[in-house]
Amino acid sequence: MNKPPPYKSAPMQIPQPYRPSDGNGGPDYGPRDLMRDMENPDMLVPPVTDAGLLPNLKFAFSDTHMQLNKGGWSREITVRDLPIATTLAGVNMSLTPGGVRELHWHQQAEWSYMIWGRARITAVDQNGRNFIADIGPGDLWYFPKGLPHSIQALAEGCEFLLVFDDGNFSDLNTLSISDWFAHTPRNVLSANFGVPESAFANIPKDQVYIYQDQVPGPIDSQKVQSPYGTVPLNFKHRLLAQMPLKTPGGSVRIVDSSNFPISTTVAAALVEIEPGAMRELHWHPNADEWQYYLNGQGRMTVFSGGGKARTFDYRAGDVGYVPVAFGHYIQNTGNQTLWFLEMFRSDRFQDISLNQWMALTPRQLVDSNLHASPELMAALRKEKWPVVKYPGF
Ligand code: MN
Ligand code: MN
Repeated sequence: MNKPPPYKSAPMQIPQPYRPSDGNGGPDYGPRDLMRDMENPDMLVPPVTDAGLLPNLKFAFSDTHMQLNKGGWSREITVRDLPIATTLAGVNMSLTPGGVRELHWHQQAEWSYMIWGRARITAVDQNGRNFIADIGPGDLWYFPKGLPHSIQALAEGCEFLLVFDDGNFSDLNTLSISDWFAHTPRNVLSANFGVPESAFANIPKDQVYIYQDQVPGPIDSQKVQSPYGTVPLNFKHRLLAQMPLKTPGGSVRIVDSSNFPISTTVAAALVEIEPGAMRELHWHPNADEWQYYLNGQGRMTVFSGGGKARTFDYRAGDVGYVPVAFGHYIQNTGNQTLWFLEMFRSDRFQDISLNQWMALTPRQLVDSNLHASPELMAALRKEKWPVVKYPGF
């Protein structure tokens, strides 16, 4: 260990687990996964304020199993991948033009965000009321638990994120129409539908899951008239079309049952953080937060009390998680705009701003507690800004 550390002589900037500010750490001579180290600079060299045991709060869709079918693919991050994420699970799915996620249902509610492309969704509720809609980029849908539904990509294909209100969910273990047919005796199917058994000669032998079909025609050509009408609450919401809450350094679009009434178990925010800006120090009093990074790169530090804090790096395609009430902030560490979704198993979006809490508490108390400078005391704001830019920092 007498040879000079390579980080001092290396011609290229190869990151080393060494923190120049306090001289802690040393070179890593390998074996090492340099690409992973470069993707996780704040894990390799954590800020000095990181300390203590905090569970893993990150999982990349790139590290999951890909389910490949004719007609599309899917992959998921559930409690099996990210054990702390017990409240929500997520599925990233893409369908080729005309590709179908077959007729199915599940015990969990389904919330979804269309990342790109277009799809047609259908559903029927417990009162025989039906629903059909075309979904475009930035649109959401929500299917209450147990209601049967389908998804089919339109001419350009599509990719979307599905979020389920149970971390134990798996999209590979739902209730599918083909699976039930395959596991029901033919004579029972015959009696149920009042047709001869020969009518079932060609049904699939197993669960289909995703299959390739033709691109469907115009939506009006597919509509089925129900004697009971259509569902009373819209299952679709245009999130990106919603007027954002603009703040210096970014924007936020909040969606929950107050503006998307059917969505009683999932609340969400679509957050935009410009380069150099951050989502301020805050927490959520009502639910764990499940994040999906859509664009750019950032880092999040989570504070859990008892002297514990841990920092993670995230980029597009990663999932982050924050247990209820744990303090956290997110910084844009790249030169592109950082976009991410934060989802909560709740009917309402709720957050507490550290800054606002301090501003609405007796000054003398905050001052004596923190020995805060007059400068800090003067900077506190009574209004909550979910995204804040610190110019010059
Ligand atoms: Mn589903
Ligand atoms: Mn948050």
